[in-house]
Amino acid sequence: MRRQSVHFFLFGMFVGLSLSGLILLSYTSWFRNQQMDELGGTDIGSLTPWLAPVVWEGTFDSIMVDSIFKQQNITIATTVFALGKYTRFLKDFLESAEEHYFVGFRVHYHLFTDQPKAVPEVKMGENHHLTVRRVPSLDRWQDISMGRMEILEKLIKNELANEADYIFCLDVDTKFYGRWGAESLGRLVGVIHPWFFDYPRDQFTYERRPESQAFIPAGEGDYYYTAAAFGGSLDDVHNLTKTCWEQLKIDAANSIEAIWHEESHLNKYFLYNKPSKLLSPEYLWRDIRISSGQVKNIRFSHVAKNNAEVRPNL
Ligand code: UDP
Ligand code: MN
Repeated sequence: MRRQSVHFFLFGMFVGLSLSGLILLSYTSWFRNQQMDELGGTDIGSLTPWLAPVVWEGTFDSIMVDSIFKQQNITIATTVFALGKYTRFLKDFLESAEEHYFVGFRVHYHLFTDQPKAVPEVKMGENHHLTVRRVPSLDRWQDISMGRMEILEKLIKNELANEADYIFCLDVDTKFYGRWGAESLGRLVGVIHPWFFDYPRDQFTYERRPESQAFIPAGEGDYYYTAAAFGGSLDDVHNLTKTCWEQLKIDAANSIEAIWHEESHLNKYFLYNKPSKLLSPEYLWRDIRISSGQVKNIRFSHVAKNNAEVRPNL
C-alpha cells in the first residue's frame, strides 16, 4: 500500500470505529431508557447489586404472588404510632389501609397512642383486627419517633412470636392510594426514600459525624431508606429494632443525636445488614400532590402536614 492509502485506510478505520462506538452508546442509553420507562421512569432498576429485588409496578404478577402467600396462611402484624396531635391522621390512614393494604390476608394492627379515646371507629375488613395500646406522652417529636424502636423491639420479643409471620412498621401521617400486598413480603424489607432515589450517594443525608453510632463515611452506602416504612420477618425486624435502639442509647449517653434520628440508624443498619427486598418509592411517595412524573403508580404516600402545628416542639 502507498503511504497515502495507509493514511486513508487508518482514517477510515478511525471514523468507522467512532461511528460504531456512537451507535452502541446511543443504543445502550435508549435501551436503559426503555427499561426505565417500563419500571416507572427512574433509574434505580429492579435488582440491587446484591441481587435483592426492587419492587415496582411491572415487576410482579399480583395474582400469582397472592396465591403463593395465601397457601402459607400468614399474618402480617402492622404497627402505627399516633401520639399528641397525630391522632388526626388515623382516620385516613386506617380507612385507606382497609381499602388497599393486604386485602384478603390476615392483618393485625397494633396502634400505639397516648389517647385511646381519640382512636376513630374504622370498620375492619375480613381477618383484619386492630389492638389499641396506650403509651405515655412525650414532649419531643424526636423522642416519639426514636422511641418507636424500643417499643417495637419489646412488642416483637414479648408478644408477636406466636401470632404473626411478618411485620411492617409504618408512619401514621400517610395514606394508601393503591395496592400494597404480598409482593412486599420478605425477610428484611427496606423502602427507598422518595426524596433521594434519584440522587448520587454522596448527597444522601446519612449521619456524617464519626462520633455518632449512625456514622456512614463518604463514598459508602447503597440507597437512602425511609424510616416511615420498613418490615420483614419477626426475627429480622426484631434484630433491626434492637440494634437501632441500642445505638440510639449509646448516642444519647454521648450527648449526640443523629441528624435524622432513628432514620440515620436504620440506614446504618441496612448498610451492614442488606435488605433482602427493597420497595420502590411507589411504596412511600411524598405528598401525592407533589409531581409524580417519575413514579407512575403511587401506592402509599406521606400526606402534607404542618410540622409547626402538629408537633409538640420544633
Ligand atoms: N409521631 C407521633 N406524634 C408526634 C410525632 C411523631 O405520633 O407528635 C409518630 C407518628 O407515627 C409519625 C412518626 O412518629 O408518623 C414520625 O414522625 P413524623 O411523621 O413527624 O416524621 P417525618 O415523617 O416528618 O420525618
Ligand atoms: Mn411521617
